[in-house]
Amino acid sequence: MSDTIESGDKVEVQWKGTKFSGMFISKDEKVTVIKLQNGYNLSLENSSIGSISLLSKFVQRKFSEEKVTGEGKRVFVLGTGGTIASYVDYETGAVKPAETPQEMLHAQPDLAKIASIGTEIILNILSEDMQKADWINIAKKVYERISERDGVVITHGTDVLSFTSSALSFLIENPKAPIVFTASQRSPDRPSSDAFFNLKGAVRVAQSDVGQVCVVMHSSTSDDALDIHSGVRLRKMHSSRRDAFKSINSEPIGRVDRDLRIQWRKYEKINEKPMKLYDKLSEKVGLLYFYPGLSEELFEKFAQVNDGLILAGTGLGHITNRFASRVKEYTSQGKIIGMTTQCLYGAVDLEVYTTGRNLLEAGVIPLHDMLPEVAYTKLSFLLGNFDVDTARNLLDKNLRGEISERRTE
Ligand code: GLU
Repeated sequence: MSDTIESGDKVEVQWKGTKFSGMFISKDEKVTVIKLQNGYNLSLENSSIGSISLLSKFVQRKFSEEKVTGEGKRVFVLGTGGTIASYVDYETGAVKPAETPQEMLHAQPDLAKIASIGTEIILNILSEDMQKADWINIAKKVYERISERDGVVITHGTDVLSFTSSALSFLIENPKAPIVFTASQRSPDRPSSDAFFNLKGAVRVAQSDVGQVCVVMHSSTSDDALDIHSGVRLRKMHSSRRDAFKSINSEPIGRVDRDLRIQWRKYEKINEKPMKLYDKLSEKVGLLYFYPGLSEELFEKFAQVNDGLILAGTGLGHITNRFASRVKEYTSQGKIIGMTTQCLYGAVDLEVYTTGRNLLEAGVIPLHDMLPEVAYTKLSFLLGNFDVDTARNLLDKNLRGEISERRTE
């Protein structure tokens, strides 16, 4: 390889008799990585490379402060951090988190081909550091943008993505433009990165007529399609695979193919009802995963500091019978206690066993097939914005598609 080839340059590579042209990203002792025009990174073993020639030198892209005029409907990309926020700095070859909108787009020049893109970096954190105040801040920024009828894409870390998508689902009622989350399991410098396809698919969904918060991520380990999940129905089910996200107790609401065509299943369209932003989340709501050996003392402390408790119980929705009288004490003080299942799949049913019936009798509210994190963000939303009786009454009602109307099992 010529010494003059640097990260960002356009090159042509002869590999096993085939020619590939793209942007040179990096070379180590084993592989050379180039980014193809479709955004995918191609990793070629050095031993099979015949030659690499320089087509043109990298020219630093100049972005206006916020917007890139592209073809297609306007989409605003709001960055909050996570792996997807990292980009390859072609000048140094380093991978670093994007700190400015220009840097964010620098890694994704192809986006301008499908949309007119605006960007803003609201946060630059790992998602495990998210706080409820961050969810409110994100909701306010999203609300501002969708009031202008721009679709919004929020880039986020994968770890607590389902909490944030759920919080936004409740905080913004009847969105007037799509609100689409996306993330990546592998950083953009890695040949197997899912960042580019996920982001492009999310931008495409943000140009549609979807009127519910959704999340766009790889549907399999290959790059053939993306699933569109409802923001209140998904869970990260694998720590590292690119298809880590699955819709639970419901089907994905749609799919994006390789050519960025969308096939919808059942989804909520933007409607004419007034859009509303709620800007509070109660800090006095907790989520507790019950386990054998959980002490009464710990349970008590947890219940005392909160006004609302979501329990992730075992099986059909159980915790030890030893806590039943405590539970009754708390519900008679006005605290709200909702039951979900740590099984994730299926619904709670407190009528089947004595344990469940005791909990029902103690005032526990069964939350059907709602996921624990969804119940947690929902109760935080309800206690933050409504009086306690309304909150109690709405907790087990389906507000945003978080509870199946009809269950087959
Ligand atoms: N754990 C971090 C997060 O969730 C980084 C990994 C990722 O983006 O998925 O933000």
